[in-house]
Amino acid sequence: MGRVGKGVAVVMELWIVGAVAGFGETTAAKSAPPVVVRSVPTLKKVVALTFDDGPTKKWTPEILHVLQSNQVKATFFVVGRQALRYPQYLNEEIKAGMEVGSHGANHMTLKGKSTALIEREVNENKDILESLGAPKPHLYRLPGGNSDPLALSVLTKLHYTVVGWSIDPHDWRHRYSADQLTTMVMKHIEPGAIVIFHDGPNSSEATVKAVAQIIEQLKREGYRPLTVSRLIQSGELPHNRLPLER
Ligand SMILES: [Zn+2]
Repeated sequence: MGRVGKGVAVVMELWIVGAVAGFGETTAAKSAPPVVVRSVPTLKKVVALTFDDGPTKKWTPEILHVLQSNQVKATFFVVGRQALRYPQYLNEEIKAGMEVGSHGANHMTLKGKSTALIEREVNENKDILESLGAPKPHLYRLPGGNSDPLALSVLTKLHYTVVGWSIDPHDWRHRYSADQLTTMVMKHIEPGAIVIFHDGPNSSEATVKAVAQIIEQLKREGYRPLTVSRLIQSGELPHNRLPLER
């Protein structure tokens, strides 16, 4: 459990070393510091639950059911090729008032890619989502959390806010029970936290059950789960943190 927090610290340290070592030399980094929103500075008891890699026929409806029966709005970072396969579940997310962000058309890692490739992956997903009835996405989650200054600058130029996370229980690994996932998340919860789960092919019953338990515990502790956009709005000035890589 402590390994979640520790991993984050180590990763951040690596990024700082990398930045000092010269990533900051690119033009992109000079014009605007490349940033990923990992959490939102606030004293209010608000957090965001996010779901990556869907929609899937199996898990998206189950997760939507848990969210809706608890009147919770969350953010889904949708992969275009999944949405093309299961447009009805993207539609259910929209109908349920969930926020739809982009996770790329093909779940392509943007790190080390050319501007043209990045733009193609990002714009292709925007086109897919819009063609299926979603509003134009303005949030982007990097597959694998992998980025570099070029990818971040292209996303910024395309008017995306890049969203990371502050709590990652690794639900997609299938190593943890629902109770363990719940404990890991609740141990690290704090005002402004962004939690990452998955409703993609790698999701599981443990995720669904954990989300239900986490919502219940959050409410008991006086926390309100919001979409990422609402979380950012409810914070002080949107405060961008260091990118999280893994
Ligand atoms: Zn993903």
